Parts: sequence; structure tokens; C-alpha cells
Amino acid sequence: MQHHGIHHVTAIAGPARRNVDFYTRVLGLRLVKKTVNFDDPGTYHFYYGNESGEPGSILTFFPWEHAAPGRAGVGSPQETAFRVPEASIGYWTHRLIEKGVVHGAPEKRFGQSVLTFKDPDGTSLALVGVPEIGAGPASTQGDIPADATIQGLEGVTLLVEDAERTGAILTDVFGFQEAARDGSLIRYKGDATIGGTVDIRSAKGFLPGHLGGGSVHHVAFRAADDDAQAEMVKRLAKNHGIHTTEQRDRNYFRSVYFREPGGILFEIATDIPGFATDETVDALGHDLKLPPFLESHRGEIEATLPELV
Ligand code: ZN
Repeated sequence: MQHHGIHHVTAIAGPARRNVDFYTRVLGLRLVKKTVNFDDPGTYHFYYGNESGEPGSILTFFPWEHAAPGRAGVGSPQETAFRVPEASIGYWTHRLIEKGVVHGAPEKRFGQSVLTFKDPDGTSLALVGVPEIGAGPASTQGDIPADATIQGLEGVTLLVEDAERTGAILTDVFGFQEAARDGSLIRYKGDATIGGTVDIRSAKGFLPGHLGGGSVHHVAFRAADDDAQAEMVKRLAKNHGIHTTEQRDRNYFRSVYFREPGGILFEIATDIPGFATDETVDALGHDLKLPPFLESHRGEIEATLPELV
């Protein structure tokens, strides 16, 4: 079945160990997959998500030990938000203080409680309190109670010169609908429970963003399978004159990429086969997983990757 929403968000981080510590111990996300950047196998690729690693719960990182800091700006994603039960915002405020995490004061956005904060690389993040959700499955990664566990992505905020052109891709190709407006912010909603929100902020005359530590590399949207993806590729070409890359096999999903009119790299990723294709759900994230074409280089790759413990 086709769910309209975000599949994953991928960002650039600094040192690998610090990244794992923050996302698993401070935020209590599960390291769902420990693999390498298929295009640069000397670099880890970490996937964090909820306990079962569902599409819409996934934030991934390429950790570069000596990443120069990036800058958010026009033509780049500005913030990545997670969903938590609304009643847990107080718990999280205390937790971020206790862990020394840089954060803002709780604020309201479209009527929801939002707590903004930054990871150790300066990545802009937020927790969004969602009233209709209660306790999910407890995190197995730390000391976070079930009624405060992050349940997946809420969504992303994109900063572009012209919100309407990017919005047209969301509505016409990815099945989102415009849901609300607040000043220069337009909210689009897909029907997926997790990862179903994209806010687009129009910002003319700001500096463009550039990639580096703490910035988002791309945002991936969901296609149920290859046929659904092919249909989206066709619509992009026919209605928007945009052509994607060839499909690439990412082992856990199959992807095409394109630059949307606002300059942000978008991906269309299939829900299939998912993260349990090469290890069981219980064992997700435990061992270093390599795609078949890199397996014969495992020794070399393991010797190159930085220590995690
Ligand atoms: Zn991706």
C-alpha cells in the first residue's frame, strides 16, 4: 500500500562515535543499520530509527571525522523534527538540560508544542508534541520511558526561495496536500502517520546553504515499490520537466534522485525490501553490514573505519 510521506532524512556528521552516542543514548533512537556509504566505503553510514526501523522513522548520517561545518541557508533543509507524545515535552526539556544539549524554549507552531535543539554537530532538530499519540514501544537504547519515546520523524522544514514550486512537487508527485499557512510557512501533509509533514519556508534574499557537518544532504520520500516509483519518475518528467538519476540499489530500498526546483536534493526510496532483509529485527544495527559488491573488501573496509567503542 502506498503511504505518502518521508522515507528518511540523510545528514552529515562529524566523528562517528559522538554521533552514535548522541542519537542512541541521549535521544534513545535505535541504530537500525550500521553500514558504509556505498559510494565511499571508507565512511560509515548510520541509520537511526524506531524499534522496527519503519520508513518515516529514519534519520541517517555520513559521519566524516574531520567534517567542516556546513551552513543552513536557502535551498537547504532547515530542521528535522521527531514526534513524541505531547505530555512528554516537559520530560524532554529537563533531559536536554541534564545532558547539556543546546536547545530553545518550548514554542508553539501550528498549535503544536515544539522544542528545538541541536546535536553535537549543530544539526537543527526539534521534538514535536503530538496530542493524539500515547506511549509507543519503549526505547531499548537507553533510559527513556515508554511515554516519552521518540516514535519516528514528524517531518522537515525546507528553506527555499519560492515555496510554491517545491510545494507543487510534494502535491503532484508525492501525494501531499497543503494543510495550513502561517506567515512565510506553508505546511504540507501526507497520509503517513510518521514522516507525514513538510513545512516549506519562503525566504528570498538569504544566503544559500552549503553542505558540511550539521547539514542535511537530502530528503527521501516514500514509494511503495518499483512501480510506484516509476510512476512518480514519469510524473516528474511529464508535469515538471525534471529528470531523475537511474535507479540505484541501496540494499534496504531502491532509489532515484533529483534536485527539486528550490535546489534541495530529493530522493524517492521504495519501502521494500526494508532493513530486515539482511538481519533479523531483533539484531538490527548489531553488525557491520556490507552490500554483496563490497563483501570481498570487508577486511580493508573494517580496518579503515573509525573505532566506535
Ligand atoms: Zn537517502
